[in-house]
Amino acid sequence: MTVIADGKALSEKIYNEIKSEVLKLQKTPTLAVIITNDNEAGKIYVRNKQRACEKTGINSVTIEFDSNVPENELLDKINELNNDASTDAILVQLPLPKHIDTEKILNSISPEKDADGFHIENAGKMFTGQIPNSIACTPKGIIRILDEYNVKLEGLNALVIGRSNIVGKPVSQLLLQRNATVTTAHSKTKNLEFYTKNADLIVCATGRPKFLKGSMVKDGVIIIDVGISRVDGKLCGDVDFDSVSPKASLITPVPGGIGPMTVAMLIQNTLNLAKQHIYDNFYNER
Ligand code: NAD
Repeated sequence: MTVIADGKALSEKIYNEIKSEVLKLQKTPTLAVIITNDNEAGKIYVRNKQRACEKTGINSVTIEFDSNVPENELLDKINELNNDASTDAILVQLPLPKHIDTEKILNSISPEKDADGFHIENAGKMFTGQIPNSIACTPKGIIRILDEYNVKLEGLNALVIGRSNIVGKPVSQLLLQRNATVTTAHSKTKNLEFYTKNADLIVCATGRPKFLKGSMVKDGVIIIDVGISRVDGKLCGDVDFDSVSPKASLITPVPGGIGPMTVAMLIQNTLNLAKQHIYDNFYNER
């Protein structure tokens, strides 16, 4: 029997837990979101994040810039937010316009306010097995949903398809930390089917709609579909759900799988950062 892992329901459960934690805090956490693109997808993502903040009682502040904003203006705003005691977490919605150096912007966010976990210090801590202030939201959401469904990762042959800094590389690392045997495949991998057919768990993060077919996987495989593409106006994952799901023991759908988990983990990171700030202030004032 195939289990369809319900990321939407799990995200709602996480929001309820966060909401009750927020109520107990002396100060309401605040997430600042910077958006620089006037593209519709970016705005939809930002709106989803705002809605998640509303559900949990977290303040959200959105700062919009034109897509021709000079890099210095963005750096100045981030610097202002870094020094603003009421801001707990800062997120810069990607992608940034082409004239902006994304790495420079992400690394200008204070690691203590890094909502997305993309700062080099937090990413580096994660890669060396230390506990960072925040962990990249999609990889963290993937591990959270696997835990929820009691998937024992130790010893599994895990294949991650995709090696981006925001999904493929960090999720490979998190799976390795859980003692899975991890292979990271990418666009230059030869004979991908050799790896897909041997995998107990496949995380697919390529952005290629319906790329993974049923004929490429073994019976009982666990499938995490990260991809989000729009085909004929409908959201579509990297996995050909119709042919893969009959062979899978567990599969995440698109929509309703990893997408909602990613937003929930952003809110979780915001709560964790805010709790750390409250704790630090308490000790600094003594
Ligand atoms: P990316 O474009 O940065 O990386 C894609 C990766 O796929 C690359 O490493 C590339 O080598 C690999 N790839 C491409 N074609 C391949 C092929 N034929 N065989 C093997 N590997 C191949 O993308 P990304 O930012 O990692 O995002 C991937 C997908 O996940 C996109 O659809 C994106 O929209 C989606 N995404 C979803 C969420 C979510 O919340 N669900 C979050 C982030 C990204």
